[in-house]
Amino acid sequence: KGSEVLEDSFAYESMARGAGRYPMVYAEGKGATVKDPDGNVFIDITAGVAVNSVGRLHPRVISAMQEQMGKLLHAGDMSNIKRTELAKKVASVAPPGLRDNCTTYFTQSGSGAVETAIKFVRSITGRSQIVAFHGAYHGVWLGGNSLTTGDQYRKGYGPFMPGVIHLPYPYCYRCCFGLEYPSCKLQCAKYVDYVLNTPYTGADDVGALIIEAQQGESGYVPAPPGYLEIVKEACEKHGALYISDEVQAGAGRTGKMWCIEHYDVEPDMITWGKGMGGDVSMAGLTLRKDLAEKVADYSQPNTWAANAMTCAASLTNIEILTENDKALINRCAELGEEISAQIREAAKDIETIGDVRGKGLMIGIEMVKDKESRTPLDGDTMGGLMMDLLNKGIIMVPCGRYGNVFRFMPSLVLTREHAHKATEIFLDAVKKV
Ligand code: PMP
Repeated sequence: KGSEVLEDSFAYESMARGAGRYPMVYAEGKGATVKDPDGNVFIDITAGVAVNSVGRLHPRVISAMQEQMGKLLHAGDMSNIKRTELAKKVASVAPPGLRDNCTTYFTQSGSGAVETAIKFVRSITGRSQIVAFHGAYHGVWLGGNSLTTGDQYRKGYGPFMPGVIHLPYPYCYRCCFGLEYPSCKLQCAKYVDYVLNTPYTGADDVGALIIEAQQGESGYVPAPPGYLEIVKEACEKHGALYISDEVQAGAGRTGKMWCIEHYDVEPDMITWGKGMGGDVSMAGLTLRKDLAEKVADYSQPNTWAANAMTCAASLTNIEILTENDKALINRCAELGEEISAQIREAAKDIETIGDVRGKGLMIGIEMVKDKESRTPLDGDTMGGLMMDLLNKGIIMVPCGRYGNVFRFMPSLVLTREHAHKATEIFLDAVKKV
């Protein structure tokens, strides 16, 4: 039954070009598994691209939605009870610096959260430039797309928003300065300070710096210890706001509620989405109260933001993530370490695994032709591997600047048994390359 749907969408009959295409049709989902229309069950190691943190169709999320459906759904830009409750909930779990000292502007997607951040930075600081990083992914709309790098996303879509300064991200496996951590003494972080001190157009025109504490789309690259601390200090010195984009790495995925919490950095703003919604679209910009007060009233109306039902789902989702002293998030840290260690150990004898990195259940496995050359494994071989895994019941998708990084990012409720089964199938497949 699935092939009809696939044929239709691969011929672009039903779907326009531009959207993602994966050679399998999702029909049902439960926890960390999905079923195709023919009843085949797959272990989903993508969590819908870092979305279903607490698993698909979590019974508590569903009943919160059902209860809300009997009361109120759309409220537009008017206040609704669930919106207020959710804003308070987000404030209570926000990272240090923002916790109980912030307000939230809700959006429907991570892209919307980043667009809002760009506009708010301008109106709050009166400055127009933003520092972003090579490999960054910040969204599909024109502002976030301008902060994003990569031909795949940019080609043909320019000209982009002016005032974006792209600096090298600390991608230690492929350090652009040819240095090694920690003997490099984080020269790349010091370069950020240098650039903030030397803006392109006029001094003091950088309003903010936006960064993923662990890059997502460009290959699951975590910032090395100490890097973000230097970057934050540079921001403070030069009056630029620090925005942590937590859309992919937030919501418990890295073994802490927010990825930035692995570092000694207090962000001025965070953008979030994906795993925060409980399987429905909920995202936002959370910013320090004193900054939020500088934004003009009614200047950013958003018709579809903060639907009462999606707020109810998100609230319950956050409750599940953070209850019992963050038991689910702590489990994610443990299981992530266990799986990383298993892959790292096996990788010693697998020539095509160049690097295993990441935090919690946000593990990147960088595939190469051989360990010595570090040449990225080619697209055809990566595609073949992805298909092989799919045929064996494992949904796993690549990312990365060269498309050669498999991401291990299942739902946080993935059973230990399924985690090991998927890992073994993955390692078996890779050994045959
Ligand atoms: N920021 C980051 C770090 C992301 O990974 C993404 C999505 N991949 C976005 C922003 C955009 O989010 P969305 O797709 O929900 O618009």
